[in-house]
Amino acid sequence: MKDDNCIFCKIANGEIPSATLYEDDDFRVILDLNPASKGHALILPKEHYANLFEIPEDLLSKAAVVAKKVGTKLYKGLGAEGFNVVQNNGEPAGQTVFHFHIHLIPRYKGDTVNVSWKQGKLTDGDRQEILDLFK
Ligand code: AMP
Ligand code: ZN
Repeated sequence: MKDDNCIFCKIANGEIPSATLYEDDDFRVILDLNPASKGHALILPKEHYANLFEIPEDLLSKAAVVAKKVGTKLYKGLGAEGFNVVQNNGEPAGQTVFHFHIHLIPRYKGDTVNVSWKQGKLTDGDRQEILDLFK
């Protein structure tokens, strides 16, 4: 399914031109227009799923393979020294385009990319509550 109001649907399906690094039946991988680092790319499924919770498992598995394939080429080809794979879900998590996508972000020593958080402390209450979810 496509969403007529979704820019990533249009890009993924070639209706809007993009700097495409890779394409197959299910995905298009493009360069991010506002890259965090040299080589920052986005894996876009051609079908519209808003987030991780909507995308089917078989497609997600395929996306992981694309991440490895394209990520390896970026990592080696650009001489990166690290690599982040990032996938945001929901506004509080930093998602701004509500069409599932995976960020591939090559990292270089001394770059200005910020994928970090302040370390907290696991409380007894939280640990128990969360463990109980998986019982
Ligand atoms: P997120 O914040 O995880 O939803 O990521 C959205 C990403 O899409 C950001 O890194 C934007 O720079 C990027 N972006 C938004 N519009 C375009 C576009 N038309 N072409 C390429 N990248 C885009
Ligand atoms: Zn879409």
